[in-house]
Amino acid sequence: MQISKNKVVSIHYTLKDNEGTTLDSSLGGEPLMYIQGIGSLIPGMEEGLEGKVKGDKLQIHVKPEKGYGLRDERLVQEVPRSAFGNQDVQVGMRFRAETGAGVQIVTVTEVSPDSVTVDGNHPLAGVDLNFTVEVMDVRNATPDELAHGHVHGPGGYEH
Ligand code: ZN
Repeated sequence: MQISKNKVVSIHYTLKDNEGTTLDSSLGGEPLMYIQGIGSLIPGMEEGLEGKVKGDKLQIHVKPEKGYGLRDERLVQEVPRSAFGNQDVQVGMRFRAETGAGVQIVTVTEVSPDSVTVDGNHPLAGVDLNFTVEVMDVRNATPDELAHGHVHGPGGYEH
């Protein structure tokens, strides 16, 4: 069975950047399960997996435009240290913040005695993504799964 729209797909994957640093991996855990063609994965991954079958091993290179988007420097803001009160603020911490564009997750990228720099970009925005993928299983989605927009059963939602 080939991967196409509305198939439930299980994959193991390892994600590296262009420097070869591993950013994420499913190895050692359960495979990632998703429904193809409904926007669950980034577009570059769904395009790379389309037509593949169980047992296929492949490399998928995803440009930011087909991944987590380009970086938007307007989402980088410097805010007064005092805005965080007595909180111990450190680089890498993530917060929900009210911004002009609604509630966003921001990451602290710099801390000085007087100010804190936060970045509202997705951590992988602007990053070239290099996936090594193995297709573990492909099956038809059930009507319930399609109605809910997610996978049911082991590896998915149990309800
Ligand atoms: Zn459900």
